[in-house]
Amino acid sequence: MSFDVLAIREQFPILSREVHGKPLVYLDSAATTQKPQAVIDALVDFYTQCNSNVHRGAHFLSDEATRRFEAARDTVAGFVNAAHREELIWTSGTTESINIVAKGMAQRLQPGDEVVVTELEHHANLVTWQQACLASGASLKVAPIEDNGALNLAAFEALLSANTAFVAMPQVSNALGTVNPVQQLIMLIRRLAPKALVLVDGAQGVAHSTVDVQALDCDFYAFSAHKLFGPTGVGALWGRRSVLENWPVWLTGGEMIATVTYQNATWGPLPSRLEAGTPNIAGAIAMAAAIKWFQQFNMVDVQRHEAELMARAVALGNEFEGLRLVGNAPDKVGVYSFVLGAGHPADVGFILDRQGIAIRTGDHCAQPLMKRLGVPGTARASFSIYNTLDEVEQLFVGLRKAQEMLA
Ligand code: PMP
Repeated sequence: MSFDVLAIREQFPILSREVHGKPLVYLDSAATTQKPQAVIDALVDFYTQCNSNVHRGAHFLSDEATRRFEAARDTVAGFVNAAHREELIWTSGTTESINIVAKGMAQRLQPGDEVVVTELEHHANLVTWQQACLASGASLKVAPIEDNGALNLAAFEALLSANTAFVAMPQVSNALGTVNPVQQLIMLIRRLAPKALVLVDGAQGVAHSTVDVQALDCDFYAFSAHKLFGPTGVGALWGRRSVLENWPVWLTGGEMIATVTYQNATWGPLPSRLEAGTPNIAGAIAMAAAIKWFQQFNMVDVQRHEAELMARAVALGNEFEGLRLVGNAPDKVGVYSFVLGAGHPADVGFILDRQGIAIRTGDHCAQPLMKRLGVPGTARASFSIYNTLDEVEQLFVGLRKAQEMLA
């Protein structure tokens, strides 16, 4: 399909609504993307035509639900280019995916081991590792960034050693939009930290780039459906089969067992051993629908479009006295984080909201990063496939008003 942003917008019912009597300008896709009709239809269709539990029913609907659910796994596994479908574990989202890995790793880490993260982390990929280290006696090393929000590659490299047991890093920073050179970093890790396992937090990466876990050579990749045009409450953990096969179980209960006695239990094979309980069946099916919807576009077109939006924002911001862009790494996508004079980001967000413009303000679940950058928080506009240049311009019209009101 050729890239026609107005035609794309028509597929998102919510984008034609008004808020506070103004047409909605939705610039908060890094928090969650809006959902196209195809995804909404997939959810409704499941509940109206097929609702049933999976893997356990001796009846038609359960069979059909199971087929659709497992076909969704194939789609999502294919989306990240997994070598094996059972490497794709359904979770409630990135946070749960990272927790499965960090809680399992906490059982293996020992004093003397080192876990490396970056200063860019979302709390989901920081607190998890900090707690795993506190529980195990391993030490947490934090790779620093430059003032522009780019990772300091030399400092990252210097942290890697034979003691490095784990490296966790974001593909794209949610607060600043910095794109990490993940593939290059993993090559360094493989060379300098041979025993390390590597997790890539793909929450912000999936909607802005193609993902190939085999080419990346990571061990785990975590992502959420809702940042990828899919529903909330569902996501995935991809893990290398040889690693996941022996991973400590996460939740125990139905579905994940092989045999059970009153005294003991044995665990089933992948993927079910890490998927206890009834999954978010409709969510998984709708996640696959979102991916299929997204895959109709050429990623080069998507990236070009988002780069145009960002370039316009940067150009308008550069002319805007009193506005300071926070995070201008050479490689960044989707996120325009800023502070406006002495105005508190929350006030800026409030004034924009009254004009129908939705942004996010605050620490973006990255308190240590805000501290590192010397700001209490930022206002963050984030762009997606359905945003227009006109909306970027409206943001700056709104900001003029905010500046006047806050003067
Ligand atoms: N990591 C990053 C980089 C994120 O942006 C987010 C969501 N803001 C998360 C992790 C957590 O994702 P979720 O809330 O969907 O679990």
